[in-house]
Amino acid sequence: MALIVQKYGGTSMGSPDRIRNVARRVARWKAQGHQLVVVVSAMSGETNRLIALAKDVSPQPDARELDVMISTGEQVTIALLAMALKDIGLKAKSYTGAQVKVLTDSTFTKARILDIDDASMRRDLDSDTVVIVAGFQGVDEHGNITTLGRGGSDTSGVALAAALKADECQIYTDVDGVYTTDPRIVPQARKLDRITFEEMLEMASLGSKVLQIRSVEFAGKYKVKLRVLSSFEEEGKETNGTLITFEEDTKMEQPIISGIAFNRDEAKLTVLGVPDRPGIAYQILGPIADANIDVDMIIQNVGHDGTTDFSFTVPRGEFARTKTILEEQIRPHVGARAIEGDNHICKVSAVGVGMRSHPGVASKMFRALAEEGINIQMISTSEIKISVVVDEKYLELAVRVLHGTFGLDQAAA
Ligand code: ADP
Ligand code: ASP
Ligand code: MG
Repeated sequence: MALIVQKYGGTSMGSPDRIRNVARRVARWKAQGHQLVVVVSAMSGETNRLIALAKDVSPQPDARELDVMISTGEQVTIALLAMALKDIGLKAKSYTGAQVKVLTDSTFTKARILDIDDASMRRDLDSDTVVIVAGFQGVDEHGNITTLGRGGSDTSGVALAAALKADECQIYTDVDGVYTTDPRIVPQARKLDRITFEEMLEMASLGSKVLQIRSVEFAGKYKVKLRVLSSFEEEGKETNGTLITFEEDTKMEQPIISGIAFNRDEAKLTVLGVPDRPGIAYQILGPIADANIDVDMIIQNVGHDGTTDFSFTVPRGEFARTKTILEEQIRPHVGARAIEGDNHICKVSAVGVGMRSHPGVASKMFRALAEEGINIQMISTSEIKISVVVDEKYLELAVRVLHGTFGLDQAAA
């Protein structure tokens, strides 16, 4: 008997039929003698609908109230799944994040989990009950409802698996595993049977939304055995999905590049003609950090005439706010010539642990992009990834070209 945490995403929970389908899958695992905790997302589209509704009423909705509202999507699906399980003869009980006591900090809309009380869940599991928990939500020390950021149910799943010391955390979604790139963009993408935790962490942080980045961080910190699987495979035809492994496969020759990730959620800002003197980077980025805006890539050009240009990227949703801060607070203060912005950029990245032992990956990547006439605006590298910023109109072309260049396309059938 194993203790398994399963998480079902929005598409998997997207209609009454699909919820009944999830219930049957849960019942099959239960019939094998396992204990089950099931974490669910809202029905697909529901969280977007709720956010749009809030913005219709208030252009910049209060964050606490937004969390009260957008957490309701998951409150609906936990109850529906519990009903469906009871209908087929299983004992089941639903819990909101607050009812479990998934304790978080108070950063509304992107709260971090601090602690999970496992007492009630353990009691239910011991009495043979399937525990169903609302993903994406928690409660802070003052009793306020919080949410964990978009895609946060993955993190709820992995955090519960860590708290319960589960044998495995299974992320059920609408694809049958982690692919070499998003199969919706590149149909030749290949499913990976295994991916190292390090590579998955990079892929998720660089935009592969198949797993939310925080869920991978949790899995790494608490050594949770994590698997991505499809909830759409028929009974008897289920495959093993993708295992996120902590060991690098030393037996086999590793491919140099394991995957291509991309992110549209990027915008670039440039402060032109700032004096080239110590402290400038701090004077520009300090107020941005104070406004709680995440800065990703940064480039500072070498100055010639005593001035320099300073560019950086932020999430696209923060573009307007960042530009206002630059114009109003920073430009007059540092004496910049102008502020430029571009919110039609994207970031494309090649990821692979094999890069450590193989030089020349960057030049191969840059040549492939040059041959397609794709201009690179920014570059950043780490030990196992190379990222470039390019015009958004080239996103699909760049991803497809790099996927082919690094030998990731599956052989034609
Ligand atoms: P869920 O609602 O189940 O959480 P998501 O939409 O958040 O599902 O994540 C699954 C989607 O992630 C897939 O439909 C796929 O389009 C996308 N995706 C992006 N990159 C990858 C990748 N490398 N491998 C598999 N899926 C990916
Ligand atoms: N329902 C939330 C969202 O759409 C959380 C999730 O699905 O993981 O972001
Ligand atoms: Mg998701």
